[in-house]
Amino acid sequence: MPAAGIIDIHTHFATGGDTPSDEELATMRRLAGRHGITRVVELFNFGPGARPSIAEVRACNTCALRAMERMPDFVTGFCYLNPEHNAAFLKEETQRCIGDGGMRGLKLWVAVKATDKRLDPVMERAAELDVPVLHHAWYKATEQGEFESTPAEIAGLARRHPQVTIVMAHLTGDGMRGVHDILDCPNVLIDTSGGQPEAHLVAYAVKRLGANRVIYGSDWPIRDFGTQVGRVAGAEISDVDRALIFRGNAERILRLKESGA
Ligand SMILES: [Zn+2]
Repeated sequence: MPAAGIIDIHTHFATGGDTPSDEELATMRRLAGRHGITRVVELFNFGPGARPSIAEVRACNTCALRAMERMPDFVTGFCYLNPEHNAAFLKEETQRCIGDGGMRGLKLWVAVKATDKRLDPVMERAAELDVPVLHHAWYKATEQGEFESTPAEIAGLARRHPQVTIVMAHLTGDGMRGVHDILDCPNVLIDTSGGQPEAHLVAYAVKRLGANRVIYGSDWPIRDFGTQVGRVAGAEISDVDRALIFRGNAERILRLKESGA
């Protein structure tokens, strides 16, 4: 485990609205701490559905900003966006959350597919602000969501926007096939979240992509911290690689050292 603690790149709040619950924040911090996690990236709170309105996006982001204010040494927010929304809102909300509010990235989920042209202004804005984009991905055998992106589609997005660092979510959902899809996309990291750990998958991702492209995430509270930390702690990789996955890569893409956070 890194001495300075693990950074979890992929968490949510279960409670909705524009204000985080004190109880939920305290529980999250207590349980994260048990597993050596000292900072979490909050992506959005569950409540709005797959295609949130402008008001719902704003509320999610206000909730994350308030959590950052309450626990600045523990919570880093990402600005949640729906690419269906207009350019004026994109500019205004990213300014509020990142420019003024100190968030460190953008989060995209399943409102539109990664192949959709409406992602281009979002990616251009990420490049302008010099922040990473964490994008959901999953290969499902059945019931792939209508606008749910596959790793191959994330690879296409990465090739269209090679200047933007993308964190592709859910190693377990992406599988070996997903790792293959992003082999030639050096701007894509894969997060280790999603499902139950599968034997050798973290080690496989490290072997094919290099440890600097694999990053620890839990998807809390859908998954518990212990199982998700365990898949990296128990992987057949070197301690140097493990430290990159647990902390070094997040420090780099979130620029935590430069900001003294
Ligand atoms: Zn998630």
